Amino acid sequence: MLCPDCHRSAPGGTPCPACGRIVPDQESMSGQGSRYFVVLVALSLAMLVLLLLATTLGGPGPLPVLRRLAASGWIWLYLAIFFIPIGIGIYYWLMLREEEVIVTDEGISRRSHWGNESLRWDEVCAFNRQPILFRQTRLGRISGLSRLFLRGARKLDLPPVCYELVGPADTNGLPRVMRFEPGTIEEMPWLLQLIEEHVGPPVDV
Ligand SMILES: [Zn+2]
Repeated sequence: MLCPDCHRSAPGGTPCPACGRIVPDQESMSGQGSRYFVVLVALSLAMLVLLLLATTLGGPGPLPVLRRLAASGWIWLYLAIFFIPIGIGIYYWLMLREEEVIVTDEGISRRSHWGNESLRWDEVCAFNRQPILFRQTRLGRISGLSRLFLRGARKLDLPPVCYELVGPADTNGLPRVMRFEPGTIEEMPWLLQLIEEHVGPPVDV
């Protein structure tokens, strides 16, 4: 495992050789579903504010406008514009809610909407990195929104890339692949460092 402070390698549960802090024996990372929800709700609120401004500036004020909209049936369009992003946010939150990746000195496991997977480090045959388009990911184009979550100078992968841990073949003769797509996991850079500690840096394919 790695010390969370100085990123030095040490067995989980033992003191870090540099700072003496006990290195955790497991690290878990969750999905980014709540981030999508927050961004989409903010989008809805921004549209509501724009709508209110548009109807109050130079107009008769929001209440008469609302009454006129309700009478004409246009209100449904406005309600749809307001609620659709919130609905999409809830959908992605539900999809990523179960997502959790756990790293230990023995291996890596993932719980997710798409099934549970695990690999021991000694089973990993390859760690690959490849470019991917947001629309090719399981989340689809919406994962492009994850760009909005990156703060400050944190490194941005351009084009977006996905990471794959390739394990031994399963009973059908196909290799077991654990795939990390952009915009799914919180703290992806930290997850990548923890993986690299055990299997080395990713190879571009
Ligand atoms: Zn340390």
